[in-house]
Amino acid sequence: MPYYDDESKVKRPTDFIKLEDGDVIILQSNVYTIATHFLNDIKRSVLCGGDGCYFCQNGNQMRYEYYYHGLVNGKKCIIRMPASVFYQISNQEKFIQKKDKKLDKRDFDWGISKEGSGLNTKYTVTKGDRIKRVDDSVFEANKKSLINIVSKYEKRLEEKALEIVAQDSQEDSE
Ligand SMILES: [Zn+2]
Repeated sequence: MPYYDDESKVKRPTDFIKLEDGDVIILQSNVYTIATHFLNDIKRSVLCGGDGCYFCQNGNQMRYEYYYHGLVNGKKCIIRMPASVFYQISNQEKFIQKKDKKLDKRDFDWGISKEGSGLNTKYTVTKGDRIKRVDDSVFEANKKSLINIVSKYEKRLEEKALEIVAQDSQEDSE
């Protein structure tokens, strides 16, 4: 890690890989989900506070984000998976398990097609080849790394949420 005199030059690492058209993915962990709100006016996501959440109460729609440790085009990374991709893979997994209960989504690679952009983005998932899944030791290491990285991100989203709630309540009292 280089030493910086000017800390404003430190770039935030892109921790998560978004899926693009033509990507082939392999999942090497279970899923980590977080509930968030996207705040359009500041173009930022914040964590949903659950019961009594300020953003839920203000009518902002809550959404889930899905994270996996895995490979995208052979490169090890943490995948940020859109909900539609998560559900398509999970639905196909049900068919796989009708034939063989021992198999799951981690025993295949998956092709991603992406059309459109922004709110009109549409993903289609195609089941690929049977693959050799990672050893249990790698799976466990991936799990720890996924929890470590995504929980830090979750913490940042929570801090941002608290900051905005505090700002708004201050503006209300002025
Ligand atoms: Zn909420």
